[in-house]
Amino acid sequence: MEREADVVVVGAGIVGGAAAYYLARRGVRVVVVERGSMPGEQSRKNWGFVRQQGRDPIEMPLVMEANRLWRGLERELGADIEWVQGGNLALAGDAERMARFERWLPVAREFGLETRLLRPRELEAVVPGLAGAWVGGMHTPGDGHADPEKATDAFARAAAAHGASLRLGCALQAVTTRAGAVAGVVTEQGEIRTPTVVCAAGAWSTRLARTLGLDLPQRWVRGTVARTTTAPRVTTCAVWAPDVAFRQRRDGSFTIAAGGALDHDVTLDSLRQLRFFLPNYWKNKALFRFHVGRPLLASLAAARPGSPARRRPLVWDRGLEPRPNPAKVRRSLAALQRVLPSLPPLGIARSWAGYIDAAPDLVPVLGEVPQIGGLVLATAFSGHGFALGPIAGRLVAELIVDGKPSLDISGFRFSRFAEGAIGKPRNVL
Ligand SMILES: Cc1cc2nc3c(=O)[nH]c(=O)nc-3n(C[C@H](O)[C@H](O)[C@H](O)COP(=O)(O)OP(=O)(O)OC[C@H]3O[C@@H](n4cnc5c(N)ncnc54)[C@H](O)[C@@H]3O)c2cc1C
Repeated sequence: MEREADVVVVGAGIVGGAAAYYLARRGVRVVVVERGSMPGEQSRKNWGFVRQQGRDPIEMPLVMEANRLWRGLERELGADIEWVQGGNLALAGDAERMARFERWLPVAREFGLETRLLRPRELEAVVPGLAGAWVGGMHTPGDGHADPEKATDAFARAAAAHGASLRLGCALQAVTTRAGAVAGVVTEQGEIRTPTVVCAAGAWSTRLARTLGLDLPQRWVRGTVARTTTAPRVTTCAVWAPDVAFRQRRDGSFTIAAGGALDHDVTLDSLRQLRFFLPNYWKNKALFRFHVGRPLLASLAAARPGSPARRRPLVWDRGLEPRPNPAKVRRSLAALQRVLPSLPPLGIARSWAGYIDAAPDLVPVLGEVPQIGGLVLATAFSGHGFALGPIAGRLVAELIVDGKPSLDISGFRFSRFAEGAIGKPRNVL
């Protein structure tokens, strides 16, 4: 293993993989350390929506540039990632949700994103055979979707092809500092001297930050996803209804989820960080289901002095596979069959779950950390970082190589938490 690097990237999800790719393309010597046996966690498990629609205005310039990148990624990375620019349709079952969409339209207009509100009779033109008593919908034809595993692997492979060194099964155990700046890292495969570390560790970033005395508020929520058996082709549009979100894959199967309903496994961190997240829980209480059980006990056991978690905080629960919620799988399949009644009866081929890392204001943490020179955070993508991954990676590379990213990322600064400058979430999806 390399003993020296210009940059060490922690995590080979879509964010870390993209950062390594854009850095390597600029001639930077990069080592990516990934504690899992494959690149990425959430990045492999998500719905695959690449959505500009409904975003917090602060994210719009980034996600629109990301969309431009996605359109050319298959060519650029030389890989099939099942990219489809089929649009995104958000459905409203009541006037309140429709009013939220209406309130978001000025954002689309401000940024020049083609988006229309649709009346019920216009919905069928977007998704043939769509059924249901909808009040209306919001349609963004330029949105798309892609295969999460293929896209994540493609970035990791392309980074390696451009000279990045990808170390799988190699957890970062510590970042070493000297005089307030990064000096190197300690990994399972040895030490690397480096002046720059990019933390793209997804849901584990809070722990990594804590080892450096930094308090990064990140909430974990468990999202359940399933894949159906195959069906005749119906639509290329990704659809987000209150009871089910779905996209049809190239082989005809559907990726489905319970339309944004999430499980929250209470842990010690949820209690520690309650003050950051309480307003958001309250606002979205219909979407969350709280579970007090094994994860809380595990986090209490982990906090015991001398526990494996205390001795090796960044390694001990590697390979954690959260359980999918079977009720959500059943409900989302039933909702899919109601929304698209022409489909034959479908079964579930596979279901899985992933922990989402969310910031209190539901926008990422992206940029340098003032307290520690050379430490760059690219994390807390709050359930929509698959779409943002390519641009987040490119901006990280620009920040490191040029000293300044090409888009304004000041709104994503880590210091906003300490400053108390956390705005209310302004996304509508
Ligand atoms: C159920 C679900 C549905 C979602 N749907 C969408 C969607 O439709 N559209 C969208 O845009 N986004 C979606 N998201 C969010 C999106 O998947 C994430 O925001 C994005 O993948 C984050 O990428 P990442 O690279 O930061 O994280 P990850 O893919 O989780 O990568 C982080 C990596 O860091 C590694 N790591 C952690 N600690 C260490 C260490 N100490 N040493 C070495 N490696 C380490 C981990 O093993 C992991 O591979 C969804 C997420 C989930 C879970």
